[in-house]
Amino acid sequence: MRRCAAVLLILVLVLPSSVLAADEATLAGYSPRSSQTEREWEVKFRAIPDPANLREDMQRLSARPHHVGSAYDKDNAEWILARFREWGLDAHIETFNVLFPTPKLRVLEMVEPTKFTAKLEEPALAVDPTSNQKAEQLPTYNAYSIDGDVTAPLVFVNYGVPEDYEKLDRLGISVKGAIVIAKYYHSWRGVKPKVAAEHGAIGCLIYSEPQDDGYTRDVVFPQGPMRNPDGVQRGSVMDFASASPGDPLTPGVGATADAKRLSLKEAKSLSKIPVLPISYGDAQPLLAALKGQMAPDEWRGTLPIPYHVGPGPAKVHLKLEFNWDIKPVNDVIAKIPGSVAPDEWIIRGNHHDAWVNGAEDPVSGTSPLLEEARALGILLKQGWKPRRTIIYAAWDGEEPMLLGSTEWVETHAEELRQHAAVYINTDGNDRGLFEMAGSHSLEQFINGVARDIEDPETKMTVWQRSHLSQIANAKADDRKELRQRADLRIDALGSGTDFTGFLDHLGIASLNLGYGGEDEQGIYHSIYDDFYWYTHFSDTDFVYGRALSQTIGTSVMRLADAEVLPYDFVDFADTVQKYTKDLQKLLADKQEEIRERNQELDEGVFKATFDPRRPTVAPAHEEVPPHLNFAPMENAAEMLTRSAAHYQKALLQKQTGLSEIQAETLRVLNAKLIDSERKLTSGDGLPRRPWYKHLLYAPGVYSGYGVKTVPGVREGIEQKRYSEAEQEILRVAKALEQESELVDSAAQLLEKGGN
Ligand SMILES: [Zn+2]
Repeated sequence: MRRCAAVLLILVLVLPSSVLAADEATLAGYSPRSSQTEREWEVKFRAIPDPANLREDMQRLSARPHHVGSAYDKDNAEWILARFREWGLDAHIETFNVLFPTPKLRVLEMVEPTKFTAKLEEPALAVDPTSNQKAEQLPTYNAYSIDGDVTAPLVFVNYGVPEDYEKLDRLGISVKGAIVIAKYYHSWRGVKPKVAAEHGAIGCLIYSEPQDDGYTRDVVFPQGPMRNPDGVQRGSVMDFASASPGDPLTPGVGATADAKRLSLKEAKSLSKIPVLPISYGDAQPLLAALKGQMAPDEWRGTLPIPYHVGPGPAKVHLKLEFNWDIKPVNDVIAKIPGSVAPDEWIIRGNHHDAWVNGAEDPVSGTSPLLEEARALGILLKQGWKPRRTIIYAAWDGEEPMLLGSTEWVETHAEELRQHAAVYINTDGNDRGLFEMAGSHSLEQFINGVARDIEDPETKMTVWQRSHLSQIANAKADDRKELRQRADLRIDALGSGTDFTGFLDHLGIASLNLGYGGEDEQGIYHSIYDDFYWYTHFSDTDFVYGRALSQTIGTSVMRLADAEVLPYDFVDFADTVQKYTKDLQKLLADKQEEIRERNQELDEGVFKATFDPRRPTVAPAHEEVPPHLNFAPMENAAEMLTRSAAHYQKALLQKQTGLSEIQAETLRVLNAKLIDSERKLTSGDGLPRRPWYKHLLYAPGVYSGYGVKTVPGVREGIEQKRYSEAEQEILRVAKALEQESELVDSAAQLLEKGGN
């Protein structure tokens, strides 16, 4: 379901193609000999994925709607299972039973000052052959909205994020007892009804603004890739970030047949108010009927109307009823047993369920996963024997909120804590740059893989292309770092797709990878995300699908075969240092902002700028945030930096002798390395959300998919809980100290081991 604000980075540079000759340096964690053998297998692997198969698999998997509980969802799971088995993998389907609401009744009408009934319907289009599968399509809705029947004045709230409500306060406008209408994007959608409810709203509409993914950006579907006036973005509004993702009735445990279930009333992650997504065709008459103050400049979209905030005189009636059914989700799991270290697991997943036909989301990621599995099957027949166990997973129920992966993680938590080394996730895939995000102990590793993959368009390596395009778009200060630092920085992970349970709940080092950025799209979660759209407007010849297969398959093999798991702590420690400085700056900026505003209040700035025809309300005087003691975290980061250098040196010195290290020593060493991400978790979890155990990465309570790094401290500062932030600094510092001790002990083991 991943979709962040698309940023277009296009550059065409011509470099000699000889730069592609893979950097033949010994791979990290490998002895020179095993490194060479590994590279030979990887070259064989990368020759196998075939765009023709990717196209065929996409056509098959997206031929009919395949949401949770649908006939074709099950059919796809069984088809994937048959493919895994055909390729010689040991595979099975694991089924969970989860709460999955579907619409029973949806009414949206304007009752004042004029009558208007919203269409709530995406029409079939003659040129698009799967758009007419009406009987199987889920209606447009937000899953896990509660039932409701409300009538109230309408208020336009921009993107509906907390800052928008601060602005409404300045305008003297309250949403208490109102129904709000918010634009999609700029936060995860579930944040909008959550914040609206916190401010007293009783209903929420979310519409797709043409400025964000409609006609303002390019021609609309079916002539172009963008959202047409009837297109609607379905999607989950489960409050996963405050509670937990997965089945709302079985938080923290697997939704197996005999699991103890909460009643619907006890479920914590449902929305607090009814919420419905609509098209801009349906939104325009409602917005046009609003009066009151003009919306601030930056709130206005590009519909041909004046954007007023309200409240009213537009008054709307919203009535929603859902079937609160328990439905099966079918995860397809395939296993390749490890030949030397079967108890160390490399796990790779992508979901297979969609909101409707889902060619882009998720099938453009699912098909490459299948091509990898097919290719690995071929290598196994040729005699390749992975050292570690490899698990391939096609998850079900990702769209409603990571149901299949979360339930699997919760069911197998104990064995995963013991055995899982790395989880690699992908979701929809498009044309463009290689996008890397994940645990920073894997930053160096994934940079290395990116140096060995050819970009289909420029024929440079995908690493070079990313590097150069980052230089092209960087500020002067950052350009210097980009040219000097060996590795590109990878993004931290928030949420939005299936890595969440692995990373945030269990502390398994994770990566989320994909290609994208070159094509605009406005079909996300609509009936028009289908084979016709993808083969006209995205990776039409499937060469980026092939690049994804090559990239992820290479990553899986390289992780599975290394004598020593290729974690690196130098980049990681550098990132921790950076986060520590970022947090200090966040606090300093906040102090400065409040100090300045207080001064302006004293000076009478708000009186001077008051316009009686457009009245505003001055903000209140606020106490300047206190000083926080970051020293424990700074010291721990320093300590980690030294340990990381120690480990790097020990590994490099031992490289030629890696193959002589005793098997038992390697086992102990790798177990320590696997534990390195677990050390960053706390059994108690984050404040008020104990399911989230990772102290460095979490989705934001008010950003949703967007990451909050060092979340306890950061959200403490952002949400003005300063003493909590100070406590969290101590907790993070302690974890970093323990991490540092672990890394030192791994270095010592290498120094002693083998001779
Ligand atoms: Zn997806």
